[in-house]
Amino acid sequence: MEIYTRLVQFSPAPGDKCRPSSTPIYQTATFEQDSATEFGDYDYSRSGNPTRDVLNSQLAILDHAYGSFAVNSGMAAIVALASLLEAGDEVVLGDDLYGGTYRYFERIARKSGLTVRHVDTTGLAAAREAMTDKTRLVLVESPTNPTMRINDIRGLAEIAHEFGALLAVDNTLMSPYLCAPLILGADVVIHSATKALSGHADLTAGVISAIDPEVSSQIAFAVNAQGLALAPFDSWLLLRGMKTLAIRLDRQVATAARLAAALSEHSGVSAVYHPSLPGFANQDLHRSQCTGDGNVISFQTGSAEASARLIEACKLFRTTVSFGSVTSSISLPFCMSHASIPLGVREHRAFTPDLIRVSVGIEAFGDLWADLEQALEAAKGARLPDLALATG
Ligand SMILES: *Cc1c(COP(=O)(O)O)cnc(C)c1O
Repeated sequence: MEIYTRLVQFSPAPGDKCRPSSTPIYQTATFEQDSATEFGDYDYSRSGNPTRDVLNSQLAILDHAYGSFAVNSGMAAIVALASLLEAGDEVVLGDDLYGGTYRYFERIARKSGLTVRHVDTTGLAAAREAMTDKTRLVLVESPTNPTMRINDIRGLAEIAHEFGALLAVDNTLMSPYLCAPLILGADVVIHSATKALSGHADLTAGVISAIDPEVSSQIAFAVNAQGLALAPFDSWLLLRGMKTLAIRLDRQVATAARLAAALSEHSGVSAVYHPSLPGFANQDLHRSQCTGDGNVISFQTGSAEASARLIEACKLFRTTVSFGSVTSSISLPFCMSHASIPLGVREHRAFTPDLIRVSVGIEAFGDLWADLEQALEAAKGARLPDLALATG
């Protein structure tokens, strides 16, 4: 079945005699047992819940995984991932990861005796050089956020496997609809389902999926033992949001390409990063591993002051962190989502204080472009070279 069909055609309530068309919310902490020694399929919702199980099987189909686990947030998925590691293990992280991922590995995971390396993995030679026989995990995003650089997932999987390590891909920016890292050779995929998977900015959730049964069972253990699993109501909301994942993103990706093209022709914009643009670095590689260009665009104005004014002048693009919702949003990653990454680490040429990130929703192109155009006009007077916001 094609994905449009699979997203809505599934058994909503296996075994339920009422045969509901929508999955019931099993809003219960406990399940009664047949006796003190005989246990049913469910006993306690932290460990297992029928609403979440329907969601998990849908996620496993979308991710082409052996096992998928819905958790409380994208960060809970990162915690579950890090639970696969032991003291003394080494981790290679892409150098342009979500700010919270960076913070977790630096401030929490390091305390349990991991060695963490931040590497520009978009160069396979640099990635290989960072590996040792103690490396157990490589974690990357592609495209990276917010600088939109492309990691070679197939190439990194080969390198990781040569050293006996797992390759994990944080696929939040693409979602399972636009990229299937497990098919490309990755071992684990994670998503912040807060973004495109749920699509309505109405819950926080995360997903971790693995292709190998043994790794899946280690993740299942980590999720239960640490209490990471998603609550029944949030599981239901995510299941509902996911039904429209493909049709939402079709429209969002198409509108994003039109906006990226319009931005790149505007005199108030100095650079635009979106895989749809001619001359986008590693466009062929991106298109060989993803089926779409995504709904997130980054661009620069040349001035942090101008970028801040532009964001404030937008009316339809709301100033919010996060992305992937049906409602368009705009942010300044340097001061918002990525502020927890130290300045010295945010050194890539594209990650400047004036870098704006927009997430394109399902609104009409004409309305969105009119909003950006008037905001670019409002920002014009502020185009002085400055680094006033470079405090992070
Ligand atoms: C938002 C995000 C996360 C964290 O997810 P939460 O749901 O906010 O915990 C992780 N990775 C990426 C790429 C993200 O964008």
